[in-house]
Amino acid sequence: MTDGLVDIFRETRAVLLDFDGPVCRIFAGLPAASAAEGLKRLLRGQGAELPQDVAELDDPLKVLRRTADFAPELVDKVETALMAYEIKAVDFAEITPGARDLLAACAGTGRPVVIVSNNSEPAIERFLDHAGLDKSLAGVVGRPIGAPAEMKPHPRSVLRACEMTDVRPDEAVLIGDSWFDMEAAINAGARSIAYANAEGKDVTLAQAGADVVSKDMREIAAAVRASR
Ligand SMILES: [Mg+2]
Repeated sequence: MTDGLVDIFRETRAVLLDFDGPVCRIFAGLPAASAAEGLKRLLRGQGAELPQDVAELDDPLKVLRRTADFAPELVDKVETALMAYEIKAVDFAEITPGARDLLAACAGTGRPVVIVSNNSEPAIERFLDHAGLDKSLAGVVGRPIGAPAEMKPHPRSVLRACEMTDVRPDEAVLIGDSWFDMEAAINAGARSIAYANAEGKDVTLAQAGADVVSKDMREIAAAVRASR
C-alpha cells in the first residue's frame, strides 16, 4: 500500500465516491453504446442534425452533454430517455470488487460517504437499495437534471457533498475513475484518489492531477483502516 493513500485519509474527513467505476459498472449488462445509440436515434427522430463528433459517440453521458450545444431544446427529452436507460441498466450492473469493503471501512472509522456522480439519482438509489448499501451512505448527489454543463468536471456536486457532510472542500477526498473526476476535485479544492480500473489509467489520471492512484478498491479500503 502506498503511504500517500493512508496520508490522504489522515488529512481528510469525508469520502466522496464516484458511482460508475468505484461502486459498480453501471453499463455492465446494458451496454453504454446501445444507450448512446438510442439517444442519437431520439435526436434524429426529433429532427436534429448530429454533428460528426456526436454521431461517433458511444457514451450516453457525452451525448447528453453535447446536446446542450447543438439542440438545447431537446436536452429535457434526452435527459428523460437517459434516465430510463440508467434505471434499466442498474438491474444488470456489477458491483465493483472492494466497494463494500470501502464502505465498511468508512463506517468503521466514522467517515461519512457521499456518492458524487454524473449518473442520475433515481438509478443510483435503485442500485444502492438493491445492493443493500443505501444505509451506508450520508447522501447521493447525482446529475443536475436539465443542466448538463454542471456535471463533473464542474465542481457543483463535490461542493454540494461537502455541504451535506459539513466539511470544507479540502477536508474531502473524491475517489473516481475518470479525468473529469480529477478535474472536479481540483475545481472544488478537494483531494482526489484515482481508481485506475483499466490499462493505462494510472498514467492518464496522474496526468489529470490525481493526488494518489490505486488499482484496487480493497487497497483503498485498507488505507482507510490504517489511517485511524
Ligand atoms: Mg466513473
